[in-house]
Amino acid sequence: MRALIVIDMQNDFVQQGGALYFTGAERVIAPVIDLVKNAIDNSDAIITTQDWHDIDDVEFTLWPRHCVKNTIGAQIVEPLKTHLAGYEKYFAVHKNRYSAFYGTNLDELLRKLSVKQVDVCGVVTHICVLFTVEELRNRGIDVRVHEKATASYDSDLHRFAIRMMKEILGAEVVP
Ligand SMILES: [Zn+2]
Repeated sequence: MRALIVIDMQNDFVQQGGALYFTGAERVIAPVIDLVKNAIDNSDAIITTQDWHDIDDVEFTLWPRHCVKNTIGAQIVEPLKTHLAGYEKYFAVHKNRYSAFYGTNLDELLRKLSVKQVDVCGVVTHICVLFTVEELRNRGIDVRVHEKATASYDSDLHRFAIRMMKEILGAEVVP
């Protein structure tokens, strides 16, 4: 089974006014939706991750408070949510660290679905995308990263992460 993993497409990251919004972040919404449509056409599984913090999470010593569980900021952006609604192979994963595997059921879910190939998109390229792709590669899963459907607030770190995923982790990077 192939799966599309959509990383942290939440209001606090990609919606203007969000707690960790950065200029241009909303540009990934359209390409991510294209990937979602494509995945649905191919009957691939779709997994969204959401940063999902307690109000006093220790991560807030590093970052301004964001994606507090059950708040608007932690919700998936509206146009994407609409496309996912009702799809029978859609799964949501809540996480409180950069890697979507840490303290979540993602490992179990991928094994249950016999996922061997994954397409990855979302934000932020050098944080949650990179650390999740590393874990996917540790498990021997083929990874295709869709660069146009990723974004970062720092273009150097974006390029660094793309290179790391391609040259060090052996992911395929498509423009
Ligand atoms: Zn966070």
